[in-house]
Amino acid sequence: VLRLEEVRKGYGSSLVLRDVTLEVPVHTVTALIGASGSGKSTLLRCVNLLEEVDDGGIFLDGAEITAPRVDQDAVRRRIGVVFQSYNLFPHMTVLDNITLAPRRVHRVPRDRAEAEALELLARLGLADRAGAYPDRLSGGQQQRVAILRAVATRPRLLLLDEVTAALDPELVGEVLAVIRDLKEEGMTMVLATHEMAFARDVADQVCFLDAGVVLERGTPAEVFGAPRQQRTRDFLRRLT
Ligand code: ATP
Ligand code: MG
Repeated sequence: VLRLEEVRKGYGSSLVLRDVTLEVPVHTVTALIGASGSGKSTLLRCVNLLEEVDDGGIFLDGAEITAPRVDQDAVRRRIGVVFQSYNLFPHMTVLDNITLAPRRVHRVPRDRAEAEALELLARLGLADRAGAYPDRLSGGQQQRVAILRAVATRPRLLLLDEVTAALDPELVGEVLAVIRDLKEEGMTMVLATHEMAFARDVADQVCFLDAGVVLERGTPAEVFGAPRQQRTRDFLRRLT
């Protein structure tokens, strides 16, 4: 689905992504791990075209989305994104938050959009929260609704940036469970995370970023079980 070819990105004189090459096959989960500042969020922002790459290319379903004159809005419509701080619209109910993009952007009729949203909410046990405003929900509930909102438009690809980082520990599990469900359904995802146990469990591919370089890439068993690079070993050791 997604391919990055020698993507380079810098801010001023500092290079944040150094020739990152990465392939994300359809129906797989890729976990980006690495120290704070290693470039995980920048990579996700480049994929979503929130940042312009300096060099290299990003391809979605074979077409270069970083090429000039690409319809960026059309690209973004095919990519769902959820960030660390749940950014639901505070003045809209849960149901309106979820159905806004399907209705406005994808022209799905209101009754169908709402029926689908209610079904999604019911699966998470949140059907009774449909009419509530976000500030009436727990952080975990808000983040689960934010994920539902991102997938309501059936994106080709879902980007998740530290979606559990702002949550109380007891709320992390319910959000991770939603991601696990999406994987079961075949959603292709790239997620930046500090939750190593989760990355190990859910990812098909783990990518260790070190100062903007993909230093190590492989299955969870390879990267966590038998890291080849000393820097990966140091990083993982510091966490345990
Ligand atoms: P964390 O785990 O803390 O979220 P990260 O791996 O997501 O870290 P990035 O947010 O991608 O790291 O940042 C990578 C580097 O790019 C950092 O050194 C950061 O200071 C720098 N950076 C990010 N955004 C900008 C910006 N808009 N302007 C200048 N520098 C930036
Ligand atoms: Mg980040």
